[in-house]
Amino acid sequence: MEHYEMQDLENWDKEYIWHPFTQMKIYQQNKPLIIEKGQGSYLFDIEGNKYLDGYASLWVNVHGHNVPELNEALTNQVHKIAHSTLLGSANVPSILLAKKLAEITPGNLCKVFYSDTGSASVEIALKIAYQYWKNINPEKFKNKNTFISLDDAYHGDTIGSVSVGGMDLYHRIFEPLLFKRVSLPTPHTYRMTEFDNSKDVKNFCLQRLESLLKEKADEIAGIIIEPLVQGAAGIITHPSGFLKGVENLCRKYNVLLICDEVAVGFGRTGTMFACEQEEVIPDILCVGKGITGGYMPLAATITSQKIFDAFLGEKKEHKTFYHGHTYTGNQLSCSVALRNIQLMEETALIEKVQSNALFVSEHLQDLYKLDIVGDIRQRGLMIGIEIVKDKETKTIFPSEENKLDNIVLTALQKGLIIRQLDQVLTFIPVLAMNQSELEEAIRIIYQSISENM
Ligand SMILES: *Cc1c(COP(=O)(O)O)cnc(C)c1O
Repeated sequence: MEHYEMQDLENWDKEYIWHPFTQMKIYQQNKPLIIEKGQGSYLFDIEGNKYLDGYASLWVNVHGHNVPELNEALTNQVHKIAHSTLLGSANVPSILLAKKLAEITPGNLCKVFYSDTGSASVEIALKIAYQYWKNINPEKFKNKNTFISLDDAYHGDTIGSVSVGGMDLYHRIFEPLLFKRVSLPTPHTYRMTEFDNSKDVKNFCLQRLESLLKEKADEIAGIIIEPLVQGAAGIITHPSGFLKGVENLCRKYNVLLICDEVAVGFGRTGTMFACEQEEVIPDILCVGKGITGGYMPLAATITSQKIFDAFLGEKKEHKTFYHGHTYTGNQLSCSVALRNIQLMEETALIEKVQSNALFVSEHLQDLYKLDIVGDIRQRGLMIGIEIVKDKETKTIFPSEENKLDNIVLTALQKGLIIRQLDQVLTFIPVLAMNQSELEEAIRIIYQSISENM
């Protein structure tokens, strides 16, 4: 092991690492937070400071850090083999995990295509949906070449997933590289002030969708949507019934429904998968983030039998899905994912998330006493707190004021890691965080906002 001092790590981080989604000029002016270890709901930096993980290490952590059962699953597997390929051969953990995923996902979703990031799982879903129509009838469906997605959608950072995304800030510069999509208004009740309530917002958006489909269903291969909550857009919670309405329209106009549950899947919104809450069964389901409990990179695109069958044929029919990644079905990732799901069942984690979500919801109400808290949005343990300059007009602080950066920094100094998405503070705790830790986190959030008003 190379010998180094704490100061060396800080210097080398700035010298050698290009951090994601980060303006490195600003990053290099500040002292970096360098994590050394984790235990339960806490992270520890190299100086031994302790922080509650109110960000679940980018929305991935389920049971906490350094979990004996997950550690054991990994070490058992690594003593057998770390990796062999799924191209032309199979492996034990990927088989067992696929069977488990087929059992726990809704309806007849049953065919698992592995990848290693959420973006890739979306990319794969789009390619499968596109090719599906060409495989079943290339003449009849020759124009089904585009997708509908929501205005503020976020589906990942590869060019295909950016193409169906709508976050202007991230995507504008790449515009010339993207394929065309058809966009649908995001049902964002807090910001759509022209409507009285969330039901009217829902009806408006569904009517827009129906008129789009009436006009051009023969050009639409599928609709891709983040069920119940649009995470990266600022924890926008959809009106209830919206997802069901989208599903009904997909069936009526013969377009595929792709649910991107990369953020909301694996218990985050209080059910194993968010689409269960509206009894929706997509044709294609994308999962990632929480699938390994926050241990290893893994994602999956899960399809129905009907979709899969459209790809069966003789070699010369060219119905094969020509796509695959080098580490597809990696044994370490799959073994820890399987153990993660079993542990969720053994600890009845979903029920716990539901009761903790109620607990959090009650405690969060206090935040409305603060003059700059405009809206608190929550599904399960996915929480967004919108900060506004004026509650009446809902105007936001100019970004030069660094309001939210300061709140996040204050929270860090008080021992809580949270992050902001524009004007929205996000609180996405480790899923298994206990009530006293949740209470402590909310207390720190309250203080950090009130000290920066
Ligand atoms: C995070 C996220 C992705 C992208 O996943 P990566 O693993 O970061 O590529 C896609 N869709 C949604 C809804 C996400 O939250």
